[in-house]
Amino acid sequence: MYNLSNEIKKISEKNPNEPEFLNAVKEVLDSVAPVLEDSKYEKESIIERITEPDRQIAFRVSWIDDSGKIRVNRGYRVQFNNALGPYKGGLRFHPSVNMSIIKFLAFEQIFKNALTGLPLGGGKGGSDFDPKGKSDAEIMRFCQSFMTELSKYIGADKDVPAGDIGVGEREIGYMFGQYKRLRDTYEGALTGKSVVYGGSLIRKQATGYGLVYFTQNVLNHHGDDISGKKVCVSGAGNVAIHAAEKAQQLGCKVLTLSDSKGWIYDSEGIDLKVVKDIKEVMRKDLSLYKESRPNAEYHSGKFKWTIPCEVALPCATQNEVDAESVQNLINNGCKIICEGANMPLTAEALKIVLNADILYAPGKASNAGGVAVSGLEMSQNSMRLKWSSEEVDEKLKGIMKGIFDNISEAAAEYGEPNNYLMGANICGFKRVAEAIMKQGAV
Ligand code: NDP
Repeated sequence: MYNLSNEIKKISEKNPNEPEFLNAVKEVLDSVAPVLEDSKYEKESIIERITEPDRQIAFRVSWIDDSGKIRVNRGYRVQFNNALGPYKGGLRFHPSVNMSIIKFLAFEQIFKNALTGLPLGGGKGGSDFDPKGKSDAEIMRFCQSFMTELSKYIGADKDVPAGDIGVGEREIGYMFGQYKRLRDTYEGALTGKSVVYGGSLIRKQATGYGLVYFTQNVLNHHGDDISGKKVCVSGAGNVAIHAAEKAQQLGCKVLTLSDSKGWIYDSEGIDLKVVKDIKEVMRKDLSLYKESRPNAEYHSGKFKWTIPCEVALPCATQNEVDAESVQNLINNGCKIICEGANMPLTAEALKIVLNADILYAPGKASNAGGVAVSGLEMSQNSMRLKWSSEEVDEKLKGIMKGIFDNISEAAAEYGEPNNYLMGANICGFKRVAEAIMKQGAV
């Protein structure tokens, strides 16, 4: 049987200077400890195989800015595990991107994708390129250069990237165009495409909508309902905006949103039309919100979750919610935290939450709606079909319910019925480990 602290020590020595990756590995291994008591996992070297990526690729991306100067960024793709299907996971363009962050995201993606029940492996990629303040032409030249290298490693049956922070429909379009030009093949090698040329309806909304469907499932399971709840959301990007939109459609009052410069509090409920105009059309910061909604508050700096609410949906980025913030939520009577972002709680904040009387759902379960609809986009592309919004939305609802049912069953089976972190890690881990064991010594 495995000695877990020895395993974690070996992994830490093998992957120095990768704190985000090591944090994610520790979290998963801690929660699957009861499963690992079965000696078959040790006999099959499952921890060693599941924590070592199939492949990690880093490459130079040279591109020309509008002044004619050659600029250089670094690109990444980590193809972590394809036991269940082609590698699948987003591309992130943000100056903070490094190998540790991409590896942590790819590792988490393996289990998230397993939870959807779709045939998807786990991967992630991106670049330290900062799209902020760049012209459309610069974004296009960067995306084309990035794809010139990435195209060697991806394909519809091999590895299918999508969007993430800093990568939306515009960037996916430029990358898809370049992929098609290089390969001379029209295939679904990327998801998150525009519906004009092969994208799935509801893909853009899927992570945020799925998050709210998941939250509704948890509340229903605990004899409650999302309708009428006060909701705080962080972030003001793709996930945050669509989570807020679905929460409002289901009768909630959404009180806050945030971005990298500051946060807004609108006691009458956030006006999403104003937010979409600021973030998606003008690509500016939330300080402009007050110009259209003078009664709202704008605060510069980090959002510390000080506004009382019953539902908290962190949807910005990793480690955005610290110990002080979760304490504010708990003190103000918040009932549930469901993660829209990947690992938004710091390790310290997570420890507090797991020991408090508050429901908590980890992102690998609650934000899996995006990759699930990406899986549906892949199916539509292969079948040369297009499903209606209603069809995709129904499938999304079904997948989110299936994920909740499976993880709550796993949590109950291992004696901690409300520990959805443990349920999600166990459920995802067992699926991937079973698939690895059936495929021999690879
Ligand atoms: P976007 O780029 O669309 O939006 C990110 C938002 O978070 C922006 O409002 C951004 O502010 C804010 N933000 C980014 N970094 C920071 C920071 N360090 N501090 C405060 N705010 C910050 O990304 P997405 O909405 O696509 O992704 C958000 C999260 O959800 C990420 O963790 C991502 O991995 C996760 N996720 C996304 C999925 C998807 O389908 N897109 C699927 C599953 C998970 P600003 O506007 O100022 O840049």
